[in-house]
Amino acid sequence: MTFKNCSNPEHAEPLPATSEFFYKDKRASDGLTARCKDCLKARQRRYYKENREDRIAYQRDYNRVNQIRILRWRMRNLEHLRCYQRHYYRRRRAVILPRQRSYQQDHRTRIKNVKTP
Ligand SMILES: [Zn+2]
Repeated sequence: MTFKNCSNPEHAEPLPATSEFFYKDKRASDGLTARCKDCLKARQRRYYKENREDRIAYQRDYNRVNQIRILRWRMRNLEHLRCYQRHYYRRRRAVILPRQRSYQQDHRTRIKNVKTP
């Protein structure tokens, strides 16, 4: 098995040159990204943290401009969306349920006053 150094200078350990540790990149001579997956994920997280407001504003604008296109995509991919949402819920249940409970407690009177048809 061949090993490869991640190009992040803070990451010294060589890793196996496989798609388990590096993303695939058709442009690279060995077909893998220069940085390892963990370093790219960490960089992405840091970037989002530092540019959160800009990213949220960009996403909001994109969604507004592309409303029709997004709706069309959703209609064409209903099955995929349902599957994704089911898995997302299963994966994040431990976070979603307490958040829901806390919201319901905070909005008890408002929820009680909702009239159902
Ligand atoms: Zn790395």
